[in-house]
Amino acid sequence: MTTLVFATNNQNKLREVQALMPDHIQLKSLQDIGCHEDIVEDADTIEGNAILKAKYIKEHYGYDCFADDTGLEVAALNGAPGVYSARYAGPQKNADDNIDKLLIALAVRFDRKARFKTVIAFAKAEEIYTFEGICEGEITKERRGDGGFGYDPIFKPNGYQATFAEMALALKSNIGHRGKAMKIFLDFMAQ
Ligand code: IMP
Repeated sequence: MTTLVFATNNQNKLREVQALMPDHIQLKSLQDIGCHEDIVEDADTIEGNAILKAKYIKEHYGYDCFADDTGLEVAALNGAPGVYSARYAGPQKNADDNIDKLLIALAVRFDRKARFKTVIAFAKAEEIYTFEGICEGEITKERRGDGGFGYDPIFKPNGYQATFAEMALALKSNIGHRGKAMKIFLDFMAQ
C-alpha cells in the first residue's frame, strides 16, 4: 500500500480525486496529517501555486505529496480570472461573489468560451513533477445545478448540456480538468 498526501482540505476535490485512485494508493488529506496551517498561495502562475503547496508539505511533514491548483481562463477576458480565480471578487474568496462578478463581466459578451486548467505538482524525494489537465467549455448565462463547488454552476463542458454542478460527481471527475491531470499523474505513478 502506498500512502500519498493530497495537499487539500477541500472535501469536493478529495471526493473527485478519491474516485480515480486505485485501491493500492491510500490518500491522506492535510487534516489527516495534522496540518492545519493556511499555506500561502502567492505564486503568479497556477503551476507555481501547485508546486508551492506540494513542496511545503514535503519539507515540513516529510510525506510524498501532491497538490493541485486550478484556474478558470475566460477567452473574452484574456484568460482572467486564471491564477486569481479564488479571489476574483476579493480576498473573502467567496464562490457566489466570484460567479456574480464573472456573469456581470460577460453580460455584454458574445464569446463565452472558457477553460479550466489544473496543474498537479508531485513532490517526491528531492524532485518535483507537474501534470496538466484542461477542460474546454463555456460560461452559461445563469447558474444551473447545486452540485460541485466554485464555478461549477456556470461552467458547461463542451459536448455536454449539463453544467458541472448538474453532473454526477463520477462524470465530472472523469471528464474534468482535475481528472485529466490526475490520470496523467496516475500513469506516471504506475511506471
Ligand atoms: P484552488 O485550486 O483551490 O486554488 O481554486 C481556485 C479557484 O477555482 C477557487 O475559486 C475554486 O473554487 C475554483 N475551482 C477549483 N477547482 C474547481 C472546479 O473543479 N470547479 C469549479 N471551480 C473550481
